[in-house]
Amino acid sequence: MADQYDILIVGAGPAGCMLAREAGRTRRVLLVEARACRLPAGSGKGKNCGGLLNEEAQKALASFGIALPAKVLESPQVFAIRAIDFDNGLERFYPKKYINIDREAFDRFLLERALARPGVELADRTVVRSIEPAGDHVTVQLKHEDGTATQVQAECLVGADGAASMVRRTLETRLSGPDEPAYPIRRYAALQQWFEVEEELPYYAAFFDQKVTDYYSWMIPKRGRLILGSALPEGEGARKRFERLKEEVIRAGFPIDSKPVAEAGCLMLRPYGPESVNLGKGRVFLAGEAAGLISPSSEEGISYAIRSGHALGRLLADAGPSQELRRAYEKAIRGMSLDLIVKNLKSKIMYQPLPRGLVFRTGALSIRRQ
Ligand SMILES: Cc1cc2nc3c(=O)[nH]c(=O)nc-3n(C[C@H](O)[C@H](O)[C@H](O)COP(=O)(O)OP(=O)(O)OC[C@H]3O[C@@H](n4cnc5c(N)ncnc54)[C@H](O)[C@@H]3O)c2cc1C
Repeated sequence: MADQYDILIVGAGPAGCMLAREAGRTRRVLLVEARACRLPAGSGKGKNCGGLLNEEAQKALASFGIALPAKVLESPQVFAIRAIDFDNGLERFYPKKYINIDREAFDRFLLERALARPGVELADRTVVRSIEPAGDHVTVQLKHEDGTATQVQAECLVGADGAASMVRRTLETRLSGPDEPAYPIRRYAALQQWFEVEEELPYYAAFFDQKVTDYYSWMIPKRGRLILGSALPEGEGARKRFERLKEEVIRAGFPIDSKPVAEAGCLMLRPYGPESVNLGKGRVFLAGEAAGLISPSSEEGISYAIRSGHALGRLLADAGPSQELRRAYEKAIRGMSLDLIVKNLKSKIMYQPLPRGLVFRTGALSIRRQ
């Protein structure tokens, strides 16, 4: 006999944890996570992420009544971004109100909040292998790190499993019918390298160079290290492009050498707009980046993850899956979908050398360094 839950959530990232916390008020929830979540803090098993909380994420946390403990904050906290346009040979400083966080500690903090609900259980070091919706439930096969497998049934399933979501893939391939809409989305390879530095950089940096990527690259100071990252078009000589970026950044005077102390790569999504957003089907829902909710102009995804997870969790706490609930979820996401339209338009200016050069030349919104 399979274990029974009201809700099975795949992925204990920000979307999954916010959802579990809300739904766990009234429902029995199983949170399934591929990673090991019970390792000691600082064991270095964090996500490949820049770890910057933008103002939208800060506002969302404020509206949910969540304050961050000091252990989540990262040094240094900086207030400006140095934007370098290698295409046009221009640069500007802009004020930026990010909070620099330790991403591993942030995810851990959200997970602790979710597990504080008696209705929420965690199965970590466990992956979802298959999903089978049938009648009034969904059957899921789980594979644990020790090689054992179990079967679980739930009234509904939520894919909060990030950019490479197997739940979304299953919905869009095996479970889709001939009249299903297409959900086009662009895919990038995100590569980051960490460098030891003697002095903290007092700003973030953003780099624009069409020869490296049609998107952007960044540098973030993080506790005695600098992260150099780039969102690179998939499969088009990504490594060579990254090396070119590194050479440019060194030439521009950034204090890194050619030997990183760590490196990580993963998939990164870039939605076209609302048409890229898939919120699921029937008893299967999608939230966070798995739903295609991530900024197409900055790659910021934490605010979308916490807002969509929170909204769906609230709805599922009060009712089972139904057409009305799906409509209510779509309504809750509408503001985020509109946001994707605005950010796509912004992308068309930021990521084309000509309009970007014009904006840089005006100096609008920039700050003068003393
Ligand atoms: C290089 C890089 C830098 C970024 N920097 C920033 C930034 O500075 N600020 C920002 O706001 N956003 C940033 N983002 C985006 C942000 O990291 C994501 O949008 C955000 O983490 C999405 O949250 P989520 O909960 O939807 O998914 P995730 O945080 O990706 O969580 C999904 C979870 O599901 C688990 N999982 C996946 N598949 C399975 C499976 N089959 N079974 C069980 N578990 C599974 C994964 O282990 C993971 O823990 C960055 C992304 C990248 C790639």
